Amino acid sequence: MINALAILEPGGKLEPFRYDPGELSTHDVEIAVSHCGICHSDLSMIDNEWGRSQYPLVPGHEVVGTISALGSNVKNLSLGQNVGLGWQSSYCNHCSLCMNGDHNLCREAQPTIVGRHGGFADKVRADATSVVPIPDGIALDTAGPMFCAGSTVFNPLVEYEIKPTAKVGVIGIGGLGHLALKFLNAWGCEVTAFTSSESKASEASALGAHNTINSRDPEQIKQAKDRFDFILSTVNVKLDWNLYLTTLSPRGRLHFVGITLEPLDIAVFSMLGSLRSVSASPVSSPTTMSRMLEFARRHNIQPSVEKFRFDDANDAVDRLRSGEAHYRVVLER
Ligand SMILES: [Zn+2]
Ligand SMILES: [Zn+2]
Repeated sequence: MINALAILEPGGKLEPFRYDPGELSTHDVEIAVSHCGICHSDLSMIDNEWGRSQYPLVPGHEVVGTISALGSNVKNLSLGQNVGLGWQSSYCNHCSLCMNGDHNLCREAQPTIVGRHGGFADKVRADATSVVPIPDGIALDTAGPMFCAGSTVFNPLVEYEIKPTAKVGVIGIGGLGHLALKFLNAWGCEVTAFTSSESKASEASALGAHNTINSRDPEQIKQAKDRFDFILSTVNVKLDWNLYLTTLSPRGRLHFVGITLEPLDIAVFSMLGSLRSVSASPVSSPTTMSRMLEFARRHNIQPSVEKFRFDDANDAVDRLRSGEAHYRVVLER
């Protein structure tokens, strides 16, 4: 049996919940969970904001732990190995996307907490392909957020081959944004944080931003005309996207990793004359996660987290909801 914490109704509280995962399938592994980060997507699923939640719902898709059982066909992982698991727990492993290493785009990819139970538990199961070894030198107690937040902001650096000479803006300094600042600084880019207050500006500098722009001051944003090669938006609120587009250099890209449910209202004229692009991307493939961990180890990058015991998981969820957490909340045993 697996001892988990589950939400029984939309917006409900976490309650103890036991379930029988059945026999371990030949290509799956079981992870003994030591830590699990809490992501805004967990909140969205708890609240059924996307209309796809099934209850009882066991949240948790920033899992860190050790392999406690191996399916008979699993060759790439070993018992006792330190591993992480993110938003996706299973892939078809044979479509052209999977064969190309783009597992994160597989049409059969199964999210860890949609139709299956996640990492707010003593154990969780996943297809071995989706489980990523954690190299020595990565602190386990802060590693959890790497597997969703980290992988989400690292992915576009690889996908769009962001150059170290690039000028990059980051919108939103939270769970995703704070890691984006750390990664981009180490990547070599000139990093500008769009922040909403003076106190956030000094925090952004400490996290790796070379410059800050007050996002509540349209005049300051206008002064950054034609400046950025790449802007990464990590927020889930509507902003004046046409104004942000004017700060992109020709061929610049406004890229979304935060999910704004409100449709974008973007003027073609803001893009057309300067060959600007607007795009979005999900979490990375497992291969890119491994590259991210290696990069993070080399540059001594780790998520900044606040830790709570699994027993205090409801307080931890409330803390994330408050928007005050610096910058990610992690559950530990
Ligand atoms: Zn997530
Ligand atoms: Zn596939």
